Amino acid sequence: MVQLKTGAAYLNGRFLPLAEARVSPLDRGFLYADGAYEMIPVYSRHAFRVDEHLRRLRHTLDGIRLADPHSDAEWKAIVERLIADADFEDQAVYIQITRGADDQRDPCFPPGVPPTVFLFTSPLVRPTVAQRETGVAAITAPDIRWGRCDFKTTALLANVLARQLAADAGCAETIMLRDGYLTEGSSTNVFAVRDGVILTPPQDHLILPGITSNVVLELAAAHRAPLEIRPVREEEMRMADELWLTSSGKEILAVVTLDGRPVGQGANAGKPGPVTRRMHDWFCAYRDEVMRHGQR
Ligand code: PMP
Repeated sequence: MVQLKTGAAYLNGRFLPLAEARVSPLDRGFLYADGAYEMIPVYSRHAFRVDEHLRRLRHTLDGIRLADPHSDAEWKAIVERLIADADFEDQAVYIQITRGADDQRDPCFPPGVPPTVFLFTSPLVRPTVAQRETGVAAITAPDIRWGRCDFKTTALLANVLARQLAADAGCAETIMLRDGYLTEGSSTNVFAVRDGVILTPPQDHLILPGITSNVVLELAAAHRAPLEIRPVREEEMRMADELWLTSSGKEILAVVTLDGRPVGQGANAGKPGPVTRRMHDWFCAYRDEVMRHGQR
């Protein structure tokens, strides 16, 4: 268990030790998962793609009809103060906004109730060197989530159940399938490679528009790597030469077995493939440049 330095949280206008943060049991986040969230990775005390995270937060808030309580400048000021106060360099800043706490349990939006705004920062958990070098195992499961997976809401029970399936199987991730097509992982986006072409599903209502995934799409375009954004059939994923996951915590992480079978054929079977390794290198170079010189 990582010890969080006190002072690493923010609740409704106050910076305070995480252990002192308290919300009502009638908070709608607790009762209904009626809330939005974000997780911003921080490298060497620089928040990575903070504008994109705030834009996605606004997309979620608009989608669930919850007024954004802060301007971008206000959000950034809160995030920057948390980052500065923490005693670790690489961090995960968590932001959650719920529709607040009424004095009764009524599903309808409570008039005049302020939202609950909660942030805290913790050390960024990144893949281990071993995971990066040898890749990870994944399983598949049906995607049982609702129809607006593009909103990053705290209603994560289906994701939690999917993730636990992976843990039970000794795997790193569960990749979800809906109607015979790949959607995404329980907390990651998924890319496949077939015959040198990178394949990934379109960012529709059934997947989260990943910030890391968008970096990968930009890098593929910048390096003229063949890429097709289109629905990916289950069989195409199972026959893929390479598979990788993206997320703010996992970055670019190779999947080397799927449902117990090695990914890929021949000498590369069961190993991180060349396209995955190249994309990982491009990603690291890009991120390091951004951290040094700001976003291009
Ligand atoms: N899909 C889901 C369901 C997720 O929870 C996440 C993690 N936020 C992602 C994809 C990856 O998104 P990002 O790259 O922005 O972390």
